[in-house]
Amino acid sequence: MAASTKRILAIHAHPDDVEFQCAGTLLLLKERGCRITIATMTPGDCGTAEMDAKAIAETRRAEAKKSAHILGAEYYCLEFRDLQIVHDNPTRKRVTEFIRRMNPDIVFTAPPVDYMADHEMTSRVVRDACFNASVPNYDTDSDEPAPPTEKIPHLYYMDPVQGSDGFGDPLPMGGLIDVSGVWEKKRAMLACHESQRNWLLRQHGIDEYLEMQARWSRRRGWEINVEYAEAFRQHRGHPYPHDDLLRSVLATPPEDELGLFADVPDNP
Ligand SMILES: [Zn+2]
Repeated sequence: MAASTKRILAIHAHPDDVEFQCAGTLLLLKERGCRITIATMTPGDCGTAEMDAKAIAETRRAEAKKSAHILGAEYYCLEFRDLQIVHDNPTRKRVTEFIRRMNPDIVFTAPPVDYMADHEMTSRVVRDACFNASVPNYDTDSDEPAPPTEKIPHLYYMDPVQGSDGFGDPLPMGGLIDVSGVWEKKRAMLACHESQRNWLLRQHGIDEYLEMQARWSRRRGWEINVEYAEAFRQHRGHPYPHDDLLRSVLATPPEDELGLFADVPDNP
């Protein structure tokens, strides 16, 4: 199957998570003709100390849409709320309905272990939804239900924040992708999230929003001797697809870059 027919869904908890962890790889997939969709579970309604929830949500939806436009992607918000993502049946049904509508070949989502619950819950819900979407008798309670998918998509977890688990220890990842060639565009996508620079400074004591992204990507790049890289781990548990479709698509023209996807050394 040609890369141009591949549908890619990147779904994470909040606006800007995809830009930090996955936008470079999405840009490479876009260059290979894939159709890309970015989705967030919430509109980032707690990501401010200055605006009310409605106002910051409107601001951040617009920022996410602007970022997706740079990529040539669609953007959807599933309209859950910050710090309230849970693994329950209503959540699983809504996300499963969304997966059925998107019918993706590849799904990127949050890692199972990360620094906060919204990320970990998103990971678990999306993993379930990828499976549930293909089960014909699974009822999502939608008024206009999409048909079940014909297959479980290839599922990849993004890097956790700072590449660390909840205890601050490094989390092993399956592979690294060199995103140096699309770095400026990835940076431009993150720069669309203007509301977050000031918020991060107040909440985490971290300034230089864009430089933080650069430091993380440089550290991953160092592991495979390139300038910037993004890390992923494929979910290969039964019955999810085991073949590395991401590696296959990235190996296709227009740019067949040797060493684009390199295995992580045992002791980086
Ligand atoms: Zn987040």
